[in-house]
Amino acid sequence: MEAYKEYFPTKSYRIAEMRLSSLLRAERDRLDALAATLGREFAIGPDNLREQLPRILEFTKEYHAAYDQYLKAVLVQQPRPIQCRPACGNCCHHYPMSVEPFELIYMYNELRKRDDLLLLMESCQMRSDKFESFFEARKDLGLSEDEAEDGALHDYFSWWRVCPFSNAVGDCTVYPLRTVSCRMYFSETDPKYCTPDMLQTEKNDSYIVYMPDTVEDAVYGISEHYSALDLPESFFGGLLAVNGYEGVLGG
Ligand code: SF4
Ligand code: SF4
Repeated sequence: MEAYKEYFPTKSYRIAEMRLSSLLRAERDRLDALAATLGREFAIGPDNLREQLPRILEFTKEYHAAYDQYLKAVLVQQPRPIQCRPACGNCCHHYPMSVEPFELIYMYNELRKRDDLLLLMESCQMRSDKFESFFEARKDLGLSEDEAEDGALHDYFSWWRVCPFSNAVGDCTVYPLRTVSCRMYFSETDPKYCTPDMLQTEKNDSYIVYMPDTVEDAVYGISEHYSALDLPESFFGGLLAVNGYEGVLGG
């Protein structure tokens, strides 16, 4: 798997990057101003989460739409067509990380309307516990935190449990809500090679579409404003933590 590909600054790429940047800048400025008004370092906390919810949902939807535009501008530059298609969820056996707090809130806000919420939370708990046990086992081998996390991600993928949001045929049941971590992963080779044993081989050409550093910095600036909620950046652990604010979100 390639971690990074070069992107050329085509016109559509520049437009998409500018749109993403200006959206993020505006939200970061809004949160900076809100924090200043409230006389504290970070804008969002348990005390105003409910009140801020409509804007969080609106912003996240806009962020995902702007990222999708950016993706289009990047993917059109790739020499070979991507092979990703519906019901081809081998990559949905990974343990998604680097999920932003506002994305967790956005997705959880829809999940909480579902009758199977409890079941979903139990599935998230089971996966989160398993990842933690892989992580601890790696640390027991004397690895650093970063090395242990990389090892645990690999162990988890090899464990081969599909995401609880994938249905019986391998489609994502939360597709419009999925996080950037789930949107950014592609393959130019057959989906059958998106498996743990083929990942590091030449048969697999999968890659992640990263955002430019300036955009990443803006995302970080926004996410910092959610620090008081203390949400983990892992997908399953993060959803469980938002579930802890059920009473606040329910109003
Ligand atoms: S990354 Fe691989 S498994 Fe995932 S959607 Fe693309 S081709 Fe399918
Ligand atoms: S949320 Fe959807 S896209 Fe993401 S891992 Fe789960 S099933 Fe796959």
